[in-house]
Amino acid sequence: MIISQEFIQKIPKTDLHLHLDGSLRLSTLIELAREQKVKLPAYDEKGLLRLVFRKKYANLNEYLEGFKYTTAVLQTASALERVGYELAQDNQAEGVRYIEVRFAPQLHQNANLTCIEAMAALNAGLVRAKEEFNARPEVASGTEPPFEYGIIACAMRMFDYGFSYYYDTLLRVHAHSGRKEVFSLASQELVRAAVVAKTQLKLPIVGFDLAGAEAGFPAEDHAQAYALAHKNFLNKTVHAGEAYGPESIFQAITDLHADRLGHAVYLFDADMIKSAEIKDKKAYVANLVQFIANHRITIEVCLTSNMQTNPAIRRLSQHSFRLMRKAKLSATFCTDNRTVSRTTVSAEILKAVRAFDITPHELKNFIIYGFKRSFFPGTYIKKREYVRQIIDYYEKIERQFAKVRRGRPMKIKG
Ligand SMILES: [Zn+2]
Repeated sequence: MIISQEFIQKIPKTDLHLHLDGSLRLSTLIELAREQKVKLPAYDEKGLLRLVFRKKYANLNEYLEGFKYTTAVLQTASALERVGYELAQDNQAEGVRYIEVRFAPQLHQNANLTCIEAMAALNAGLVRAKEEFNARPEVASGTEPPFEYGIIACAMRMFDYGFSYYYDTLLRVHAHSGRKEVFSLASQELVRAAVVAKTQLKLPIVGFDLAGAEAGFPAEDHAQAYALAHKNFLNKTVHAGEAYGPESIFQAITDLHADRLGHAVYLFDADMIKSAEIKDKKAYVANLVQFIANHRITIEVCLTSNMQTNPAIRRLSQHSFRLMRKAKLSATFCTDNRTVSRTTVSAEILKAVRAFDITPHELKNFIIYGFKRSFFPGTYIKKREYVRQIIDYYEKIERQFAKVRRGRPMKIKG
């Protein structure tokens, strides 16, 4: 068996960590900005790639800069519907069969669009792309597995005036409250909206997330929102350990009941522990890693994005995925932001295969884990059937490639 680019393209894949506003087609961003008279630093793709969506960034905050342009053009239901549709299509085109699209609906809320309407608009685009794909003869006949998706609602760790219409209003209304209190209120409001969207409108809102700048804005400020999500059977993931150490991850799995973790790059970095109460830092990390392993808390690994926001990681082979793999943690490859990180699911997998010498057997496990640990919107029985169909299809592709390549030595081809 050979892990070639062609093989990676063919196998069914997932993307469980995918931000809508970081994954717009540049042509669409330009078109929407022109239509809506939104100012961009450049109106051609080359210019945008040079000025905004770069190959390298100095840190997470610089990386987050580009989002102000993308969210600015996504303030209407029709724009949200369009980018949802296109995002699903882009994934389908590279063989991705299951995506969980996350976005912060409150960033798209304004005088003409409610938070729930923003979720419904995104869903309209995704469902249209799904139905079109699943009507293809090979899918309709059952020869190939269908395309499925879920939506994850993101709360923001922090915001200031100028962030969005909703957050500005909230800050004004609660001008005399502490900032932490306002952040907490906003995330609780989002959970309530997500629950209404899920239970009353039957939208596939499958999970809740916390995103945005991590350092200085602890997850514990959002513990009430997560408790509310927990009580309402929403699945939970948290951006943690992206720019901050193991304590942030500890908070995510204890205070926030995280089922999955976004990034967790610094999970193993005992020297990043700040609390004076933690005397034996190595033991703390070891215990944390064992807890994550035992509970199969899945790590959404975003290699390119992590390399871009953490310039201290010089080579991909130094990325902590190496240790996650050694500790047999449950991990899945994700893009984070297709446009801001200039990547695709296939590119992420190919990168990982090359940098870490992943074997075909391991790759299969990582891929299937993506499907198994997804927040699939249907029942558990339906999810099992879907995963079974995916595994059968994966094995069929393996056999096809084994037949073609039989007799050749195993190597990684780009
Ligand atoms: Zn992310």
